[in-house]
Amino acid sequence: MITLSTELGKISGVAEKFLAKLEKLGIKTVRDLLWHFPFRYDDFSRVVKISELKLNQTATIRGMVKKVAVRRTWKRKMFLIEALLVDETGGIKAVWFNQPYIAQILKPGRMASFAGKVTMSDEEVYMSNPAYELISSGGEAKHTAGLIPVYPETRGLTSKGLRFLIKPIIQAIESVEDFIPPAILEKQGLADLYTSIRHIHFPRLAEQAEQARRRFAFDDLFLLQLNNIRMRSRLAKEKAPSLSFPPQQYKKIVEDLPFPLTDSQKRSLDEVLADIARPTPMNRLLQGDVGSGKTVVAAVAALATIGSGKQTAFMAPTEVLARQHYKTLTGLFSKMNVGVGLLIGSEARASYGKELEAKKTKPGLLKEIANNKINVVIGTHALIQKDVQFHDLALVIVDEQHRFGVDQRAALVKHENHPGSETTVHFLSMSATPIPRTLSLTLFGDLDISIIDELPKGRKPIMTKVVAPENRSKAYAFVREQIKKGRQAFVICPRIEASTEGDEEAAPSADKRKDLWADVKNVTEEFERLSKTVFPDLKVAMLHGKMKSKEKEQIMRGFSEGETDILISTSVIEVGVDVPNASIMMIEGADRFGLAQLYQFRGRVGRGEHQSFCFLFTDSSSDTTSQRLKALLDAKNGFELAEKDLAIRGPGQFLGDKQTGLPDLAMRSLNNMELVKSAREAAVEIFREDHELSIYPLLKAKVGEFEKRLHLE
Ligand code: ADP
Ligand code: MG
Repeated sequence: MITLSTELGKISGVAEKFLAKLEKLGIKTVRDLLWHFPFRYDDFSRVVKISELKLNQTATIRGMVKKVAVRRTWKRKMFLIEALLVDETGGIKAVWFNQPYIAQILKPGRMASFAGKVTMSDEEVYMSNPAYELISSGGEAKHTAGLIPVYPETRGLTSKGLRFLIKPIIQAIESVEDFIPPAILEKQGLADLYTSIRHIHFPRLAEQAEQARRRFAFDDLFLLQLNNIRMRSRLAKEKAPSLSFPPQQYKKIVEDLPFPLTDSQKRSLDEVLADIARPTPMNRLLQGDVGSGKTVVAAVAALATIGSGKQTAFMAPTEVLARQHYKTLTGLFSKMNVGVGLLIGSEARASYGKELEAKKTKPGLLKEIANNKINVVIGTHALIQKDVQFHDLALVIVDEQHRFGVDQRAALVKHENHPGSETTVHFLSMSATPIPRTLSLTLFGDLDISIIDELPKGRKPIMTKVVAPENRSKAYAFVREQIKKGRQAFVICPRIEASTEGDEEAAPSADKRKDLWADVKNVTEEFERLSKTVFPDLKVAMLHGKMKSKEKEQIMRGFSEGETDILISTSVIEVGVDVPNASIMMIEGADRFGLAQLYQFRGRVGRGEHQSFCFLFTDSSSDTTSQRLKALLDAKNGFELAEKDLAIRGPGQFLGDKQTGLPDLAMRSLNNMELVKSAREAAVEIFREDHELSIYPLLKAKVGEFEKRLHLE
C-alpha cells in the first residue's frame, strides 16, 4: 500500500538510478515527491492541425512520424536530431540538439504528439526542441497535452522524468489523510488534499492549479498561525517577575528626562510597562524609525526593573552601538543610584550613577553582575557567554533584533543565566526595520508589537535626491558648503576595497566577480580620491568592518566629536549610530543596497536641528532600480517603504538570506493579505475549539513537525 510516508525506494517502478537524484532534491518519501511542486505549467492545451500552426506560437500537434535523422554538426560538435511529423493537413519538421536517443524513440511509422513553439530560420519553419511523446491508441498524453508541469530540476532528472514518476504514484496512492479539518476546508472554500495534489501536478485548467496552490499556501500559513497562537498561549502559562515602580516615581523619571516624550513613545512605554508589571513574560517588539527614540523607552523599562530589585541585560549587535547605548544610559541615570555595566569583546566598564565611571577588568565586572551591584549590563553577544551569571535577570532588551540568530535570543531568554529560578525573563526587542503588516501577522505573529510612528518634534524631513553622474561635482561643491557651515557628511560605499588581483579563486569566477564589481565604489579608493583630490583641505576618515574594533571606535569618536568632516564607510554604520551634527548622507552604488538599508543609512542624518540631505548615486539605469529609488524618495515613513519594498521584491528577496523555515509557496503568499487573514481566522477558531488539538491528532502531529522545522532555521 502506498501512502504519503512510503519511501520511494520501496516502490517498485521507481528506478534505482532516480533515487539518488531525488535525494539531491531532498526527496525521499512519497510526500516529499508530491510536495515537489511545479513552478510553472507549459500550456499545451491547444491541439491543432499542422496546417493551422502559426509562427512563434506554442501548440500541440499529433500525427505520424515520417522520417527521423540524426546529424552531426561538425562545427559545433553537436548532434542534431530532425523528425518529420505529418497529419492529414500537412507536415512539419521538429529539431532537437544533443539528444540522439530521441531517434530510438520516434521511429518512423509511430504515432506521436509534439508540443512546442514554431520558429523560423533560414526560410525554414520548424518546431524547436518540442516536448514529445508517443501516443498509443486510447492512451492519454502526459507530456504534450493540456497544462504540463515544469519542475525545479536537477542534473539527470528532468521535468519529464518527474512527471513519469509522479503521475503513476498519484494514481496508485491509497489514501491521503487530510490534516485540515473538513469544516475549515469548507469554510475557506479549499479543495481536499488529494484533489489538490492531483491539480497542482496535473491540472486540466489553469484555475485548478491556482486553487491547488492556494490550498498548499494556506496549509503552511495556517500551521504558522497555529504555531504562533500556541507559542503565545504557552508563554502566557509561564511565570515572570512582576516589575514596576510607584506611580509618583514614574512621573518623576519622565519629568526628569532631557526632553518630553512623543505621544507614540508614551504609548509604547505604557504598553511595555503594563507587560512587565504582569506576572507572565513579555514578548514584545518595539518598532520605530531610526531616530524615533526607542532607547529611552528601553531605559525607563530598565528603571522599572531596577525598582523591583532585578537586573536588565541590553544587547546590541555591534560594539559601536553597545558603547553608544552605554553612554546614553549612563547619561540618563547620572543622578540616580544605578549600576550600569558595559561588556564587549574589547573591554569592560562600569558606572554607578553619581560615582565616577570606571574601567574594569572583565572578571571584576562579572563579579558585580553576579552580586547585583550592576543593575543594567549593556553589551554585544559577549553577554550570552556562559561565564556571565546574573544575580537576578528579569528583563532582556535586544536592539536591532533581526541581526541576532534565533538561538542567541533563545539563549538569553532561557533560564540558563539564573539557574534555579522559577521564573523566566521579560523580552523586549527593538528594531528600526519596519515590518510590513502581513509579515507582522505571520512570521512575527508570536510577538506583541508597539510602534513609534512619529519623530521627536522639530526634526525636518531629509531632502533626498538621486544625483546624475554629470552632477557629481555639483554635489561635492554643495557638501563643501555645508561643511564650511560646520556640518559633517557620510559617504557610504558598497565595498571595502577594489577586487584584488590574483585572488585565490579560480580564474573564471574571479574574472566574473571583477566584472560585476568593476565600477562599484569602494571605501579604500574613495578615501584616497576624496581626501587627496576632491577635499584635500578637509578632514576625511574611513571606517569599515575589517578594522580592529579599537580603531573603529577611535574613528567613530573622532567623527561624533566633530574632529572629522567626512566619514567614508561601508554599511557598518547602518545601525543606530547617532551624530546629530551630520547633515549629509551620500550613498554610492545605491542600487546595491536594499530599500530598508538605504532608509537606515538616510536615518543617520536629520537627527539634529539642521536641515539634512541624502544624495543617491547609481550607475544602474534599470527600471527596478529607478522604481526602488523613487519609492525611497516618496516614502513618508519606514512602514510605507517596507510595504513597497515587499511589493516590489516579493517576500523572498525582501527577507534576504533570512531563513524562515517556510516553503517557497508559503513564502510567496506572505504578502497575500486575504490568505494570511483567512489562515489566521481559521487558526484562532480551531484553537478556541480545542487548545490541545486533541480532537485533531493529525493536525496536532503536523503542527509539531512544523514547529521543529521552524526551529531548525
Ligand atoms: P532610535 O529609535 O533610532 O534608536 P534613539 O533612541 O537613538 O533612536 O534616539 C535618537 C535621538 O533622539 C537621540 O539623540 C535621543 O536622545 C533623541 N530623542 C529621543 N526621544 C526624543 C524626544 N521625545 N524628543 C527629542 N529628542 C528625542
Ligand atoms: Mg537605536
